[in-house]
Amino acid sequence: MPRTLRHRVTGRLKAPVLASAVSVCLLAASAPPTPLGVGDRLFPYLGNPGYDVSSYDLSFRYTGDNSKPLQAVTTIDARVTRTLRSVNLDFGHGKVDSVEVDGLPATFATAGEDLVVTPRIPLPEHSSARITVHHTSDPMPEKGREGGWVRTTDGLALANQADAAHLVFPCNDHPSDKAMFTIRVTAPDGYTAVANGLPAGVARSGRSTTWTYRTRHPMATELAQVSIGRSTVLHRTGPHGLPVRDVVPTGDRGTLEPWLAKTPDQIAWMESKVGRYPFETYGLLMASAVTGFELETQTLSLFEKGLFTDPAYPKWYVESVMVHELSHQWFGDSVSPRTWSDLWLNEGHATWYEALYAEEKAHKPMEARMKAAYGASDAWRAAGGPPARPKPSKVGQKTGIFRANVYDGAALVLYALRQRIGKPAFERLERAWVRGNQDSTATTADFERLASDIAGRDLNGFFKAWLYGAKTPPMPGHPDWKPAPPQKNAPRVAKR
Ligand SMILES: [Zn+2]
Repeated sequence: MPRTLRHRVTGRLKAPVLASAVSVCLLAASAPPTPLGVGDRLFPYLGNPGYDVSSYDLSFRYTGDNSKPLQAVTTIDARVTRTLRSVNLDFGHGKVDSVEVDGLPATFATAGEDLVVTPRIPLPEHSSARITVHHTSDPMPEKGREGGWVRTTDGLALANQADAAHLVFPCNDHPSDKAMFTIRVTAPDGYTAVANGLPAGVARSGRSTTWTYRTRHPMATELAQVSIGRSTVLHRTGPHGLPVRDVVPTGDRGTLEPWLAKTPDQIAWMESKVGRYPFETYGLLMASAVTGFELETQTLSLFEKGLFTDPAYPKWYVESVMVHELSHQWFGDSVSPRTWSDLWLNEGHATWYEALYAEEKAHKPMEARMKAAYGASDAWRAAGGPPARPKPSKVGQKTGIFRANVYDGAALVLYALRQRIGKPAFERLERAWVRGNQDSTATTADFERLASDIAGRDLNGFFKAWLYGAKTPPMPGHPDWKPAPPQKNAPRVAKR
């Protein structure tokens, strides 16, 4: 439903600007607002054409009640890549009070999950623009819509992957448009706020505090994290003096400490496999919430506290899940998928290092896990599509596109690749991939090209069969491996 058009006039308008702006406004008003996208096969309305965001400045004001909307201001600095009469932002949940473009009030309307902003003057190609949106950010989910704010027992956290950042703040909500972030949170006394990146100031005012964080590397909107809670921040040091900080419910810090103490060694282990940790800091956010998943939010991965306190989970399993999220900092965060069909590059690699860690540290053989995955792979492809062409998520389906085909099903592709090109070439490929695409986005075709270059042979046919085939190809070196008959009660795969 289109929202009523409103605008607020400030005293800063200059007469000549106003004269030309009026006619443009009338022209722009004649086109009905339409939701746009960047053409992602799985999420056609995510992202928007015509601009590239360079930075976000997000401000949230928390009341202390996690069922109440937060007052928010989102400022977007963007480079305009083609002349825009109106600018589409993704924003699907929350009330918009006003919008300004370059300091001048702009009109706005809602179309689907887009906020369509019409500046007084069209934005010329190659210019830069600053869009400021005053809005609310509502932690209460809309019926049937997952993601965005996670309500914890003591506050809030974020879980935006894949398509929910725009339920929290207006943005160009697609991983192909990474940007720098400054995040400010004002919360009442007794709360601690932490976000991606490093602290950039704490200011007390009356009975509240404003916490500011800034990223030093570009980030996809889906990886934004904002934690507000009755938390303690624990500091330790990783390899090369890397600052590691964890955010834990204050009452649980003693129980969680033995787990948190493992992070520096896990970072060192990952560095020994693929090279230097790509960001300015790392740490775990332990949320008192039942989400059913863990999430690799950039520099501060989100975990359910229960994963660490429920004795039903074996120690080796918990540690391998920690490594899964850690390895995403390289695979998925530093190197992000250009489209959501490239998701297997995130989850396949994270599952790979999760399994490799379990093999090296807990004697859980990779080969046995891969043989089991091989048995299930045809069924996974039938249910979710081949790894690099996953089926769209069904409405109301909680797992969405996060199915076994892109987890163990995609790790199986990496295993087949290692079998095919040999361990030394595979390890060179992994290092070259994260080094060459750091702070960027990359596609499946990029991975295929690099693999062929490094292996010194054309792997086109290999990848076509393994990534896009309806059936799992024969496993190199294991001609005896066979697809298993479908299981009636296949175990549920948790997204992470
Ligand atoms: Zn994952």
